[in-house]
Amino acid sequence: MNAEEAMERLMEGNARFVKGDAKKYDFIARRKELLEGQHPFATILTCSDSRVRPEFIFDTNIGEIFNIETAGNVVDSVALGSIEYGVEHLNTPILMVLGHTKCGAVTACCQLEGELAGNLGEIMKKIKPAALKKNKEIDPAIEENMHCVKECMLQNSPVIKKFVDEGKVKVVLAKYLLETGEVKVLE
Ligand SMILES: [Zn+2]
Repeated sequence: MNAEEAMERLMEGNARFVKGDAKKYDFIARRKELLEGQHPFATILTCSDSRVRPEFIFDTNIGEIFNIETAGNVVDSVALGSIEYGVEHLNTPILMVLGHTKCGAVTACCQLEGELAGNLGEIMKKIKPAALKKNKEIDPAIEENMHCVKECMLQNSPVIKKFVDEGKVKVVLAKYLLETGEVKVLE
């Protein structure tokens, strides 16, 4: 499957999800099929938010999406390693950064006065440049954060950069709208 076909499949699945017309999957048969290995067609980095679930949003079966989830869909070296696995070893033609409206992590960062301690503070530090660039306006900061995450991936992962440069994987930025269930492709 190439990047275009993978995107078509995701967007068709999303259209079914929006209409409440999701497929009925035979998980028992699929589990057996998947015992020989996984061949997902998309690597998706998204937010841990319980309302943003890629398999539901894109109406896919198990074994079709390789997911990496962090609050605010930010990346550290462990998340980058997982993304690299999806891109380099599972050869997914798509690497999607899926942000979403009303993102709690981005909202918290926009409303934060000063610094936050501990591990949550580490997440805030990663979102902060996007929040500051958009004057702490939440919606623009959510989109800016996705662009920052893409830059961060390309800067900090020579593997992802190489696969992108060679045209083996396409990075897609998309926003999930909690209000309608739609996924809007930004880039
Ligand atoms: Zn979120």
